[in-house]
Amino acid sequence: MKKKQFKTESKKILDLMINSVYTNREIFLRELVSNASDAIDKLYYKSLTDRKVKLDKSDFKIKLVPNKEERTLSIIDNGIGMTEDELDNNLGIIARSGSSLFKEMNEKKEDISIIGQFGVGFYSAFMVASKIEVISKAYGEKEAFMWSSDGADGYSIEPTEKDECGTIIKLIS
Ligand code: ADP
Ligand code: MG
Repeated sequence: MKKKQFKTESKKILDLMINSVYTNREIFLRELVSNASDAIDKLYYKSLTDRKVKLDKSDFKIKLVPNKEERTLSIIDNGIGMTEDELDNNLGIIARSGSSLFKEMNEKKEDISIIGQFGVGFYSAFMVASKIEVISKAYGEKEAFMWSSDGADGYSIEPTEKDECGTIIKLIS
């Protein structure tokens, strides 16, 4: 398994964010639930535009599963999921323009507005987790993959097993 490096800019941003941008740690949950909801919207949209996708609105669910003994929290959705490439591209590049993020950050006072705007929401989970595992299976794909990272020094992606499409974000304290 090859460990991939975050781009230098991303490393700086991640470090900055985890340590100083967010003042309310609990914001992470709002970010992850909103991503889960986006993923469900994407698959729901597919079901409206593609007749092959037979899904009912009531099938979609977001579950929050805490495990006290293991000290983990999982955010589980049955949305569109991510392929191996999508895990790499969507979770491997933090806020494409580091300088614009920084500039905007200095202009805005509220964390929430910053987070939503720059596609850095996912990383807010590192405020409460020392390790994150993202297990995902994209809609229509056979294989599932796990992205895992313990923060700024990189991430790895490996094949895993998952029955249904969707994503499990497991936060490990
Ligand atoms: P944003 O939501 O603003 O795009 P995030 O940092 O919150 O930025 O998430 C980055 C990207 O990772 C999303 O745009 C999406 O493509 C992908 N992603 C994150 N969580 C999920 C999920 N639960 N299911 C599918 N894709 C996800
Ligand atoms: Mg988001």
